Amino acid sequence: MKRELGIARCGLACCLCSENVKCNGCGSNECPDNDRCENKRCSVEKEISHCYMCQEDCRKGLLSKIKPYTFTMFIKKYGEDKLLDCLEENEKRGVVYHRDGIDGDYDDFDDAEQLMNFILTGTR
Ligand code: SF4
Ligand code: SF4
Repeated sequence: MKRELGIARCGLACCLCSENVKCNGCGSNECPDNDRCENKRCSVEKEISHCYMCQEDCRKGLLSKIKPYTFTMFIKKYGEDKLLDCLEENEKRGVVYHRDGIDGDYDDFDDAEQLMNFILTGTR
């Protein structure tokens, strides 16, 4: 885990992204989706650092997906440091962020509350 890369504007975990061997995170503008990312464009326009700083209940762009949506919700509730602590612990327990392409163990959920609990405990 490259903790220093933190969390992208949309809520994805740059720190665990399999692309982070060649991409230095959302803030580096090196993301393959940088120029078409709705969450980046919108949060820059709103002059906020991340979607988790936004008051709107929004499912635009990456927030239509359970993982960045729930990571954003998690940070709103517990803070970014707590999410990074949990992701680090879970990685040690064997939880895999990108197992198959851009999908991994955090994507295998339909319910945000259940995923929130998985982030906290590392168990289903
Ligand atoms: S590819 Fe996107 S999600 Fe992955 S590290 Fe780069 S900015 Fe973050
Ligand atoms: S409206 Fe949606 S995309 Fe725009 S900053 Fe807020 S949460 Fe992000």
